[in-house]
Amino acid sequence: MFNALSESLDNTFRNLRGVGKISEKNITDALREVRLSLLEADVEFSVAKAFIATVKEQAMGEKVMKSIKPGEQIVKIFNDELTKLLGGDQAPMDLNPPAHILICGLNGAGKTTTSAKLALRLKKDGRRPLLIACDLYRPAAIDQLKTLAEQVEVPCFAPEAGETDVLKVAKQALSWAKEQNGTVLIFDTAGRQEVDETLIEELKQLNKLIEPKETLLVADSATGQQAVSVAQSFDAAVGLTGIVLTKLDGDARGGAALSMRAVTGKPIKYIGEGEKMDQFTEFYPDRMASRILGMGDIVSMVEHAADKIDEESVMKSAKRMQDGKFDFNDFLDQMKMLNKLGPLDGLMGMLPGFNKIKKQIPAGALDPKRMKRMEAIVLSMTPTERSRPELIKGRRRKRIAEGSGNTVIQVNQFLKQFGQMRKMMKSKGKMRDMMKQLGGMD
Ligand code: GDP
Repeated sequence: MFNALSESLDNTFRNLRGVGKISEKNITDALREVRLSLLEADVEFSVAKAFIATVKEQAMGEKVMKSIKPGEQIVKIFNDELTKLLGGDQAPMDLNPPAHILICGLNGAGKTTTSAKLALRLKKDGRRPLLIACDLYRPAAIDQLKTLAEQVEVPCFAPEAGETDVLKVAKQALSWAKEQNGTVLIFDTAGRQEVDETLIEELKQLNKLIEPKETLLVADSATGQQAVSVAQSFDAAVGLTGIVLTKLDGDARGGAALSMRAVTGKPIKYIGEGEKMDQFTEFYPDRMASRILGMGDIVSMVEHAADKIDEESVMKSAKRMQDGKFDFNDFLDQMKMLNKLGPLDGLMGMLPGFNKIKKQIPAGALDPKRMKRMEAIVLSMTPTERSRPELIKGRRRKRIAEGSGNTVIQVNQFLKQFGQMRKMMKSKGKMRDMMKQLGGMD
């Protein structure tokens, strides 16, 4: 569904992440492209405009973390704002008994399918749902619901053939439901090609009679902006509590999903992603945002790094590296921080300068076991040795080997690599060789 949008966002952010310094102009240019991408995805104009303004404001005001590239921080801001746009937190259902759920929407939106999918979902959560067929206009609708109900093994109330009084059906269904001992009643209602008065009038009456806890509009995401205006009409008539967006598996541009919450103020509660009964899930704004952005790893990394990275120490070490002064104390500081950060493969790519060589880091270079071994060697050195690596010769090496549980050969190997690494750090662009050296230690 969001392929085109994801792709163009990816391009824009890739460019932005490539630039060394972020200026207001960079941001403005990038956000102009983002705005176009949103409009192309059929996001409502005012929604796109307001969204971009907020992202820009945040990006300009953000406290800049020196150890994380600005482009990546903007990805995170964008992600957070997108999550907010999609509704922030996941919107729960009110299922306190008697939990009546009114399912409404236009013809073909996926009401009947959604009713059965929802029943299955709630059943899996340990509830006892019941399905009630209240679409008396489309004769096939009742049979369709009956068939789906059998499939998901949920009891279904179906009116007699030829019945036209929906209120009568609803009353019968309510007394039937008491016998069935169900805890959630799902009412599948009639639709039309478009919103019309008869449809709305019938819904209003049904609404009054069953007093639903949840009134869900089923909207076909492929209809884009139309889905949003349909939601507004239904909300005005019966007061929606939430939206179910169907057919997100299709190739529509996704604008409906993005504008829905902002325009209607109603949360998207579920999404349908296929015709099968289990292709239906609760809607999580944050998950959807990272799916659209396709950069979930960067986002979580920035969050994580903001928590754990000691900015000053990183900058100090980087400077000492360049000056050729990097010693074992710096090494230990870095090790400690890296250990706190946990799995490293992804994080390396975020540190300034590492992105280009990320793919070239040999497998195993960041193996925690190997890193522990290096750390043990350094910890067995005296403070003087740590700050003056050149002192570490024959007898000292033996002592360090014994103290750290390594062989002298391993200590020699590590010291040699450290020496080469130090030399290389002075000259820029040699990081790759440095990582190779680390990779070679066993
Ligand atoms: P209703 O008229 O609103 O009750 O719509 P239906 O439940 O009959 O659905 C109309 C068509 O859309 C059916 O062919 C469904 O199988 C299909 N459909 C419903 N939800 C989805 C979905 O999430 N993805 C896909 N691909 N098809 C869906």
